Amino acid sequence: MRFHVVTIFPNMFESYFAESIISRAVINKLIEIDTYALRDFTVDKHRRVDGRPYGGGPGMVMWVDPLIRCVEKIQKKIAKKKNTKVLIIMFNPGAIMFTNVLAKQSAKKYTDIIFICGRYEGIDARVKKILKAKEWSIGNYVLTGGELPAMVCIDAITRQIKGVLNAEDSIEENRIASHEIYARPEIYEYKGKKYRVPKVLLGGNHKLIDEWRAKHS
Ligand code: SAH
Repeated sequence: MRFHVVTIFPNMFESYFAESIISRAVINKLIEIDTYALRDFTVDKHRRVDGRPYGGGPGMVMWVDPLIRCVEKIQKKIAKKKNTKVLIIMFNPGAIMFTNVLAKQSAKKYTDIIFICGRYEGIDARVKKILKAKEWSIGNYVLTGGELPAMVCIDAITRQIKGVLNAEDSIEENRIASHEIYARPEIYEYKGKKYRVPKVLLGGNHKLIDEWRAKHS
């Protein structure tokens, strides 16, 4: 799976993807993440990517032209590969909700996903039409841009790619709702009160443990 991210803040992605499971997946060549700095695709010397909305109103709108030129470059790059299946995603807080089901389906179906990260008021509506992009929301709240949503989707989709999670991670992956979990110490004392690990977890009876876990999820 190759992820391509169009953004005016490419640096935001570096530290998150340089750690943990995602970085391991990159090193193992199970995924590839490329960011594209949108300002590199402008033609004016101020490298502007946005302007006032037609019809008035607050905020600025991201222009069509730099975005289209950036995505065309990505598409040309993808076209050099064989058997590709490309999805283009834009973000919108009001769109259909990104879920683990969508993550799983996307991991199976596509070889390349292009994420376009909006900022300001959003993106000129023609971009979606020209690129035949789909829109996802990551939740019922408004963020300042599409960068966090892109990171969320890349993370969740990557976990669904075969070979990304090792045996230990995979066990956890089979559930969405996790049960309560505990580690050392057995008793934690806080402000005079003792917080204990449930007794059943301290014994080795796996049948009882499974029953307890089913009840406490
Ligand atoms: N006034 C706009 C808000 C734009 S927020 C409105 O009401 O729609 C700027 C950008 O952040 C959006 O274009 C979108 O790309 C992204 N964004 C904000 N919240 C989001 C969410 N919950 N899910 C996905 N993308 C979001």
